[in-house]
Amino acid sequence: MARQMYLRMKIPMDFPIIINVDPTNACNLLCTMCPNSQPPSVKKRFLDMDLYEKIVSEISARKKRIYRFFLVKDGEPLLHKNIIDMVALAKEKNISQIVTVVTNGVLLDSRKSRAFIECGLDDIGISLDAASRETYLKTKGRDSYDAVVDNILHLQEMKKSMRKKRPVVRLKFVETPENTQEKQAFIKKWKGKVEKLEINPLHDWAGSMRLDQTGELKQKSERYPCSLLWYTMVINCDGSVSLCCIDYGWKTVVGNVREKSLSDVWNSREMEEVRMRHVRGDYDQLPVCNTCTYWKIKENIRDFLKKKYKNQEISE
Ligand code: SF4
Repeated sequence: MARQMYLRMKIPMDFPIIINVDPTNACNLLCTMCPNSQPPSVKKRFLDMDLYEKIVSEISARKKRIYRFFLVKDGEPLLHKNIIDMVALAKEKNISQIVTVVTNGVLLDSRKSRAFIECGLDDIGISLDAASRETYLKTKGRDSYDAVVDNILHLQEMKKSMRKKRPVVRLKFVETPENTQEKQAFIKKWKGKVEKLEINPLHDWAGSMRLDQTGELKQKSERYPCSLLWYTMVINCDGSVSLCCIDYGWKTVVGNVREKSLSDVWNSREMEEVRMRHVRGDYDQLPVCNTCTYWKIKENIRDFLKKKYKNQEISE
């Protein structure tokens, strides 16, 4: 409710408060719940540092920090050779209250852990998704369970020995048919060893994967506008801007921050048209939103948006 109140006070925003930048869409695992395990629909790339610096410099030039800056979208960010420099620059320029990396933890070796602690990374999400080596292999497609567990424990020990509280570790578990029997064992095993545990429902990436969704996403519910469109910006590793993280195949690109400023893309006619379609309940022309269920876990601000945009129309 507090979040809804906050959004009601702030929307429309002239700049996003949450920004995702994807260092790469390449990955080193084959998770059953992720479209990255399927044949690629988009060429694998790595974000170039010139573009990254342009993005950070625009955010930094604004007077106010954003709330959260994520270094992740489609791939495994630790595959990028400059991932530490990326975090260090975001922290040095003080662009966001929270800088987050989300990783599968396979490459989170001692050197990277130390560098993340030293450069002040605030938060790290680690997708473990299992409580045993067998289930990990079935869920993640590679036999890296023991290595990832060691990496997590080592990061926690290192923080302790360096007397640092950050990065906060959020250990993640997406509930799938392969691992659901281990959910309680996962919680029991990790409670008290990491700062946060996150159990998330399985989603089918707007119909791009054949998965039996769980939790709230499975329930039938009346459609309402996706609030993400009013506060989150998602930049792919080639600089194109997708509507959200669900757009794995880059089907909803509304601009490119290589050619335009973040602010221009955020306030563009293309972006505003998408928002207005959501307000009007007209999802048919939006290929990814049309088949998506992810909006269900976001706040329902439909009535507020309808009032806010009462007198505004979009041209077809
Ligand atoms: S409805 Fe789904 S695809 Fe559309 S912006 Fe929201 S989360 Fe993304």
